[in-house]
Amino acid sequence: VIEIRNLHKAYGALEVIKGVDITAHKGDVVSLIGSSGSGKSTILRCANLLEDSQQGDIIFKGEPVTWRGSGLGRHPADAKQVLRIRTNLSMVFQQFNLWAHLTILQNVMEAPVTVLGRDRAEAEKSARGYLDKVGIGDKCDVYPAQLSGGQQQRAAIARALCMEPEALLFDEPTSALDPELEQEVVRVIKDLAGEGRTMMIVTHDMKMARDVSDHVIFLHQGLIEEEGAPDTLFGQPKSERLRQFLSSTM
Ligand code: ATP
Ligand code: MG
Repeated sequence: VIEIRNLHKAYGALEVIKGVDITAHKGDVVSLIGSSGSGKSTILRCANLLEDSQQGDIIFKGEPVTWRGSGLGRHPADAKQVLRIRTNLSMVFQQFNLWAHLTILQNVMEAPVTVLGRDRAEAEKSARGYLDKVGIGDKCDVYPAQLSGGQQQRAAIARALCMEPEALLFDEPTSALDPELEQEVVRVIKDLAGEGRTMMIVTHDMKMARDVSDHVIFLHQGLIEEEGAPDTLFGQPKSERLRQFLSSTM
């Protein structure tokens, strides 16, 4: 579904992604791990066109959708294309980013109605369904501030699902959460993986990466240092850097 080919990205003179290839076929769960500043978030942001890139391609369902830019962060010309990609590669952030002035239900149905023009009643029905699915169906009418972090993140996941995306992109979905709350979000992500959802997950949670992924990528300074099946990568890491990284995180 998503293919990243030879991606290069610089912020001004600072080259942060230096030629990265990642493919997520339908149903694949690909995790990105690596130390802070290695470029994990940047790759996801390029993939859903929150950032431009200077070389390489983002290919969605076989079609290049790359936003070629100068790194100055201006908006890409083709707004329709951007909307299509953002809808289809729905992103979940570390800091949930829910609208504080909208109820949970309104948060989840907002974009399907206002951005995609879906019928209100249908969007509401589907929003309630996804909120049930992530285990907070009883929280429809409260505001984000009234929920725990884990519940807010599950609402953010329901909101992403409500766009009916081809794939979900997660950027450290559990990093802002206390360990007990982290587990409820991990459970939801595991369920989604079990359903065969296509996902790219940036995470510092090695246990989750090992449990849910089909493929794990270890980034170092904007390049793939090592990649492979989770059991191999975590069980028999080849590169010294990866070994060090794993011993510092587990
Ligand atoms: P973390 O684990 O801390 O989230 P990361 O692997 O997600 O790290 P990125 O956020 O992708 O790393 O950042 C990669 C590099 O790009 C870093 O050196 C960072 O300082 C730089 N960078 C990120 N965003 C910008 C920006 N908007 N302007 C300039 N430099 C940036
Ligand atoms: Mg990051």
